[in-house]
Amino acid sequence: MDDNGSEFAFELRTCRWAERAWPVTEPIEERSVLVARQLGTKRRRWDTIVLECDPDGLAARSRFGTDRLDTDLLHVVQNAPATWAYYRDTLPQPGYPWRYVREAVHEADERGILETRRNGRRIEIRRKWPYPDWLKRMIAIENKPDLDTSAARSLRPQLTHDVALGLADEVWVATRQTGEQIEPVLFEDLPVEVGVIALDPETLEVSVEWYPRTLAVDEVGTRICERPRDEWSAARFEYADPDWKATTRLAIAERAYERGWRSFVETMRPDCRHFTLRAPDGSQAMPWCHAKHRSQTAAECSGSCPAFEPEPPGWRTSGWPLEGGPGMTYQRVLTARRARRRPNGD
Ligand code: SF4
Repeated sequence: MDDNGSEFAFELRTCRWAERAWPVTEPIEERSVLVARQLGTKRRRWDTIVLECDPDGLAARSRFGTDRLDTDLLHVVQNAPATWAYYRDTLPQPGYPWRYVREAVHEADERGILETRRNGRRIEIRRKWPYPDWLKRMIAIENKPDLDTSAARSLRPQLTHDVALGLADEVWVATRQTGEQIEPVLFEDLPVEVGVIALDPETLEVSVEWYPRTLAVDEVGTRICERPRDEWSAARFEYADPDWKATTRLAIAERAYERGWRSFVETMRPDCRHFTLRAPDGSQAMPWCHAKHRSQTAAECSGSCPAFEPEPPGWRTSGWPLEGGPGMTYQRVLTARRARRRPNGD
């Protein structure tokens, strides 16, 4: 298997391509695109997420720090008033107990993104800055380097779910470019609303094989809870209202903002002596395992890997020129690159 042989490696190359060249039709300013991976809802996790952002909004978002704002914090900072007010009088009914709102108010205060003061027994709040409207569009990409008929068939239920729910503005499948045309029969197994791109993981060149339809993110979506088992049984649906969709999209976007796609190193073992980063195109640091002589997956690069060997202590002290040894250095490199993607990131 070569550098780009595994699905995981392919996914990282898709992320890098999206960061540099999204959208396929007419790339917008690179700094307006954020890419993350393995995020979504409880029921559905997307491989790659591309956020098209408003550049001014994104710059304004950076004042709230690099950590994500969860839905409780968003409820507070999005609705905090410009002048002092008792938090229960000014914030909308949360739909969950007020004590969680109070906790979020305290957390926002500790993070320095909200002003608070006591007025007798009451906690009053005032916003520091308006929370900006920074997310324009959210794109979901499913990576399937080897898209054959059975892979397309197995992807179909997830993609049908995505299309029916309409949480992302567009849904795409990315597959490996083979130099040959994708068999038209494959498209029969994919929902017609889903786009298909063929990506060359070496050169990061892409060709669009099928354009997607824009999904109605502002309208009611349909959650497919149970599929029919046979032609006699019925499917079970739920409706997803636009407010839930808007909140969920923003919560996913916030997680993507925090993590980016280079956070893969946090779930791997850069402290293993066989771990290294390689740059196949001269710019992207990809994980590489000296023991396996290939790009390892995030799942196999864990403490339970039979070939795991800790970095020799000497690497962390005098034996390696940079502080903390190579493992720590890889983490620093990737964290710095992740921060560079965000305006004013630090
Ligand atoms: S030997 Fe195992 S733990 Fe070490 S880098 Fe390779 S895959 Fe990761």
